[in-house]
Amino acid sequence: MARTYNVVTYGCQMNVHDSERISGLLEQAGYERAPAGDDTPDIVVFNTCAVRENADNRLYGNLGRLRPVKDKHPGMQIAVGGCLAQKDRGEIVRKAPWVDVVFGTHNIGALPVLLERARHNAAAEVEILESLDVFPSTLPTRRESTYAGWVSISVGCNNTCTFCIVPALRGKEKDRRPGDILSEVRALVDEGVLEVTLLGQNVNSYGVEFGDRYAFGKLLRACGDIDGLERVRFTSPHPKDFTDDVIAAMAETPNVCHSLHMPLQSGSDDVLKAMRRSYRSERYLGIIEKVRAAMPDAAITTDIIVGFPGETEADFQRTLDVVREARFSSAFTFQYSKRPGTPAATMDGQLPKQVVQERYERLVACVEEITWAENKRLVGETVEVLVALGEGRKDERTGRMSGRARDGRLVHFATEAPGTDSMAGQIRPGDIVHTTITYAAPHHLNADGAPVAHRRTRAGDAAEAGRSPRTPGVLLGLPTIGAPPVVAAPTAGCATH
Ligand code: SF4
Repeated sequence: MARTYNVVTYGCQMNVHDSERISGLLEQAGYERAPAGDDTPDIVVFNTCAVRENADNRLYGNLGRLRPVKDKHPGMQIAVGGCLAQKDRGEIVRKAPWVDVVFGTHNIGALPVLLERARHNAAAEVEILESLDVFPSTLPTRRESTYAGWVSISVGCNNTCTFCIVPALRGKEKDRRPGDILSEVRALVDEGVLEVTLLGQNVNSYGVEFGDRYAFGKLLRACGDIDGLERVRFTSPHPKDFTDDVIAAMAETPNVCHSLHMPLQSGSDDVLKAMRRSYRSERYLGIIEKVRAAMPDAAITTDIIVGFPGETEADFQRTLDVVREARFSSAFTFQYSKRPGTPAATMDGQLPKQVVQERYERLVACVEEITWAENKRLVGETVEVLVALGEGRKDERTGRMSGRARDGRLVHFATEAPGTDSMAGQIRPGDIVHTTITYAAPHHLNADGAPVAHRRTRAGDAAEAGRSPRTPGVLLGLPTIGAPPVVAAPTAGCATH
C-alpha cells in the first residue's frame, strides 16, 4: 500500500500554492493523500508562516501534540517547511527532536529526497538554502480547485517594509519568464480551469529583473488572448510601482476582472514613512481615482494595520479618512503585533494592547459601514457567479450555493424560486450562473430568486468527476528564473503587502 501524507498549511496564498506543490511532489514520489479524518498519515508536513508573533508557539504546540501519535506509529515522519523553517532552521529539531525533516522556502523540491534520506539514515535532515535555485513553478503541482488556479509570476520582494519578514525569508524578487507563466496558464485552461490568479509579493514590480517596467501590463494583455480563460485576477499590487499602463491593461482586457486588492496599511503619511512604504496617501487615493475612472464597476479591497509603533490618534484618524474616501468593498484589518526579526519589533512607541484594540474596533465599524453601503448598491443587479466549493458555511442549512462575482464579491444564491423545481442537482462547483442580488450584508450578497441562467462548464464536469488539475513539473525545457533570453515579451497581450 502507498504511504499516505497530509499537509497542514498556515499563512498566505503563497503558502497555499506552495502546499499544492508539496502535494504534487509527494504524489509524484508515490505517496497518496490521506483520507479526510485520518489522524495517522505516514507523513505530516507543516507548511509554516512566520508572520504572526505566536506562529512558533502554534507550531511547537502542534508538534508536541503529534509526538505521542508518532511514538505509537513507527515509520511516521514529520516535516516542517515554509517561512518559520527558513527562520528557525536547526532550532526546530533541537526543540522538537522527533521532527524528521526541516526544509526552507527555497528548496521545496528537495522534500521527497530529504524524507527518504531521513528514513534511511534514521536521523533528522535539515536543509535550508539561502536563495532560490529553481523557480518553484517548475515543480509538479496537485491543484486543489478544478475551476481556479494560482500561477506564480515572481517570488521574493525587493522592498523593506519594517513590519515584514518576507524579504528576509523569501529573498530578493525573482521574476519568472513571461513565456513560462503563459504556458502554465494555458495548461490550466486546457484542464478546464476558468480563472487564474497571478501571484507575486509585488506584482507591479514584475519585470524589474529583466528591465521591463511594463512587463506586468503586457502579461495581463497576453492573458486576454488565451481562449477559454474567463477570469484573470492578481495579488498583490504595490502602490509604489503601480503604473497607468496596468490600469489601462485591466480596463482593456475583457477577461481581467475589475477587482483590485491594493494594500493601504495606513492612511497616515508619517506611519507609512515609519513602515518604509514609499508612497503617500495622496498617491494611493490617486490610483483608486484612476481605476474608478477607467472601470466604474471596480471593487477595491485592501489590508490595513492598526496600532503600528508611534501611531497617534491623529494618524489613526487619517486612516479612517482614507477608508471613507476610498470606499473599499472589503478590507482585511490587522492589529499590529511584533514580528520577531523585523525592524518594527524593536521600534520605540509600541502601543498598549487596549489602545490598539479600541482603534481596531473603531476601524472595523467604519469599514463595515462602508462595505455594507457599497454592497447595497448591487441589490437588484444581475451578476455572474463562478460557483465555488467551500465558500458558504451555511449553504447546507439554507439550501443555497455560493461563489464569487466577477468583482470578487461573495454571493450566496438560491437554486430555486419558491414553487419551482430546484436546480441544485444540476449546478456544480466550476459552473457559471447569472443571478439577481436581493440582499446585501457587509461581507456578502444574497440572491434569493432562481438563477436567471446556468452554464455547465468543463471545470464543473471535472468537479463532478472528482478530478483536479495537475500541472506537471517543468513546462518549457529547462527550469528558468531571472532574465529571459533576448526575445520580445509578448505584447498582445494577473498574504498583506
Ligand atoms: S509587506 Fe509586501 S512589499 Fe513590503 S516587504 Fe513585505 S512582501 Fe515586500
